[in-house]
Amino acid sequence: MKVLVTGGAGYIGSHTCVELLEAGHSVVAVDNLCNSGKKSLDRVREITGKELDFYEGDLRDEGLLERIFRQHKIDCVIHFAALKAVGESVKKPLEYYGNNIGATLSLCRAMDKAGVRKLVFSSSATVYSADNRMPLSENAKTGDCTNPYGWSKYICERIVSDFAASDNSRRVAVLRYFNPVGAHPSGKLGEDPKGVPNNLMPYITQTVLGRRECLNIFGDDYPTPDGTGVRDYIHIVDLARGHLSALEYIDGRPGVSVFNLGTGKGVSVREMVAAFEKVNGVTVPCRIAPRRAGDLAVCYADAEKSAKELGWSAFRTIEDMCRDSWNWQKNNPNGFEE
Ligand code: NAD
Ligand code: UDP
Repeated sequence: MKVLVTGGAGYIGSHTCVELLEAGHSVVAVDNLCNSGKKSLDRVREITGKELDFYEGDLRDEGLLERIFRQHKIDCVIHFAALKAVGESVKKPLEYYGNNIGATLSLCRAMDKAGVRKLVFSSSATVYSADNRMPLSENAKTGDCTNPYGWSKYICERIVSDFAASDNSRRVAVLRYFNPVGAHPSGKLGEDPKGVPNNLMPYITQTVLGRRECLNIFGDDYPTPDGTGVRDYIHIVDLARGHLSALEYIDGRPGVSVFNLGTGKGVSVREMVAAFEKVNGVTVPCRIAPRRAGDLAVCYADAEKSAKELGWSAFRTIEDMCRDSWNWQKNNPNGFEE
């Protein structure tokens, strides 16, 4: 298949390009590089020994999308391109709604014009309401999002679902990711956040590297076994492969299909730190800090539907995630910068 990957230079996009190329697909990537750089794609070429086409530009530029669809016979689209920082979305809601919804609308319009019928959309566990019981199954309540980023994903899910419903030859998969972490085992590709990391794993790796003084554990008084927050961390390579399963799955299924991509297991902040220290033989300096506003105590997936229907499960362990994250970070202390 020839796959258009939007946001292909980003963290999840670049790892998915590797898996697509290694499975024998052709890849066309498009990215405006607002949160990434071209070097990640050079690393994709290095790891796979294969070429991919790259267009630098904004998805809201419909002319660019029309040109891409004219120049390539695209079979399906994986749509990663979005702004994703929860805190920033609270300060810049219009930018987040404008970018994430604008990009999705212009992509759907260009797909419509070009007659491209298959779409895999990157969504997030953040679309689930906070009052659900764990684990979260795909039919748990959604909405009541606590920030504009979450609402933008919720609205885009609606858009791509209605897009699918309006023409029964369209096939759409909505994938709700839990907590993607880790890096490609080669150590050549990984997460390279700009500025101070918001997420746990890059904060840990930068702390061990000495770029941050110590990890702030946001709360140790949650109703969890050790008092720290519990999340469903999923290895980036497992997550990337979930997209290949989704492409196969939707091939014969019109309409919209929704799947969680998670492991179904919760891991606490303290457990993650302990695993990181043990696997890598390092110390992670930590201190207890106040709870972070908007954080849930516990969040993990019900992974049954993905296993049964999609035929996909995550099998890489927390130890794999810690080892690969550190391998990437220590080999690339400044990320993709030389
Ligand atoms: P990322 O920032 O590394 O990648 C997103 C890419 O999209 C970046 O390279 C950015 O430059 C590009 N982009 C953004 N807006 C664009 C636009 N208008 N036109 C063209 N390119 C644009 O983020 P990621 O972690 O790889 O996330 C990919 C997707 O997965 C996003 O949709 C995100 O919301 C979703 N997601 C991520 C996580 C996570 O924890 N990383 C969790 C759940 C969902
Ligand atoms: N966390 C933490 N310190 C940090 C970053 C995160 O203690 O510097 C905790 C956070 O409170 C949550 C877990 O780690 O319990 C995962 O946070 P992350 O931001 O990575 O993911 P999300 O909250 O979006 O699930």
